Amino acid sequence: MRPTLPEAGHIYRGLILSRDSIHIVGASLAGLRAAEALRREGFSGTIALIGDEPHHPYDRPPLSKQLLAGAWEPDRIGLTKPEKFDELDLDLRLSTRGTGFDLDSRVLTTSGPDGEHREKVDGLLIATGARCRTLPGTEGMAGVHVLRGLDDALALRADFDLGPKRVVVVGAGFIGAEVAATARGREIPVTMIEALPTPLGRILGEQIGSVVADVHREHGVDLRTGVGVESINGGDAVGSVTLSDGTVIDADVVVIGIGVIPNSEWLEGSGLQIDNGIVCDASCLAAPGVTAAGDVARWPNYRFDEVMRVEHWDNAIEQGVHAAKRLLVGDDDAEPFMPVPWFWSDQYDRKVQLAGRVRADDDLEIVTGSLEERRFAALYGRAGKLVGVLGFNRPRHVMQYKTMIQDGVSFADAVAAEI
Ligand code: FAD
Ligand code: NAP
Repeated sequence: MRPTLPEAGHIYRGLILSRDSIHIVGASLAGLRAAEALRREGFSGTIALIGDEPHHPYDRPPLSKQLLAGAWEPDRIGLTKPEKFDELDLDLRLSTRGTGFDLDSRVLTTSGPDGEHREKVDGLLIATGARCRTLPGTEGMAGVHVLRGLDDALALRADFDLGPKRVVVVGAGFIGAEVAATARGREIPVTMIEALPTPLGRILGEQIGSVVADVHREHGVDLRTGVGVESINGGDAVGSVTLSDGTVIDADVVVIGIGVIPNSEWLEGSGLQIDNGIVCDASCLAAPGVTAAGDVARWPNYRFDEVMRVEHWDNAIEQGVHAAKRLLVGDDDAEPFMPVPWFWSDQYDRKVQLAGRVRADDDLEIVTGSLEERRFAALYGRAGKLVGVLGFNRPRHVMQYKTMIQDGVSFADAVAAEI
């Protein structure tokens, strides 16, 4: 039995009882938190945690912030202390890639320092995350960077340490905005290119997007919006960027932040359904005995009646835990995973936080503070319901309205609430 793209109201029914071993592929945030949850739940079988990076699991948010700023070294970003691995009693396999899986035979293939392995798995949890999109023609060009892993961050930091004359950031999404802010904190000249009229406009709407734009401009970023990138020019090393309006900007460092692709190719032909991530049912089950979590997982979130893939830190933790527990329960005890997604982004002295699922055309109401003082909470409503809250330096408000979203409060009641 194969899962089809699940609809709200559906929990895929597999056959799961007791397990001897669980293999987790992807040894980062979702994978490690899943392993910890399995032990907390009393699972005493073998847990193999398999990751293709050479590093012990580490946290990514500091890569674009404290680590890139030079304030932290890599020893500060471990997700857990190395000695904790002894307590977890993991079969930790670093520098090892999952290269294939066959649902019918349940054989997982991996490739690592000690060669290729084929092994039959009992429970499988997929947590292989996502990787950066790149721009064609930039491969191997010195000075051109993406930012996903520790090695990327150290390479970019090394270029920042050389005191570049100008960094061009392509894409004003989260990576772009945070890298621009960190570079400005180091007094490095920055030009940021965004094809849309405002940064983050597609998600937050143009009114809030223009506040984000103003904050960057006030900090000295040369922000160019409504224009794309025609080419990144150079030989061995980058020299300039040509925009779609013909402008040429000299650059000795270019950072490409144009989104990510889920790491699911290794499962093509496995029998699992792949469609912009690993397709799961509402309980994070992709097939009997197979779950997925974090940036790579796509599932129907009943709370929002939407099939979603969430690329944020809190979701990787919560879904890692949920997907782990799902491997330990029978179908009758399966619970849907229905969080209110939540994230933060640090840019200059602003902590931007968003809870919920928002769209540019949602109703918008500023309920505390003002856009002018860059300290506010904005509520997003759709079809009469509160669906999101955005805070600029308003952490308490964000968490209180997040609870209201969870409780299904109407937009009108949320706007009227005094908190
Ligand atoms: P990942 O962290 O991508 O981990 C997947 C792991 O699997 C990686 O180690 C990868 O190398 C490995 N892997 C891939 N393929 C294979 C394979 N075939 N075999 C074995 N291993 C494989 N979110 C926020 O909410 N707030 C923030 O401020 C924030 N800042 C961020 C800053 C940066 C620079 C980045 C890159 C992300 C940031 N995020 C932030 C997002 C957050 O870090 C991610 O959502 C989170 O890391 C997802 O966790 P994951 O375990 O699903 O995937
Ligand atoms: P992102 O947030 O999806 O933003 C990508 C940006 O690039 C968007 O503005 C997008 O515009 C633009 N873009 C897409 N294709 C382009 C192209 N060909 N040329 C120019 N611009 C293009 O992705 P990201 O900033 O690269 O971040 C990567 C991942 O890291 C994401 O998963 C993100 O969630 C995560 N991350 C999160 C945080 C945080 O939560 N604080 C911080 C850093 C990173 P359109 O909208 O028009 O497509």
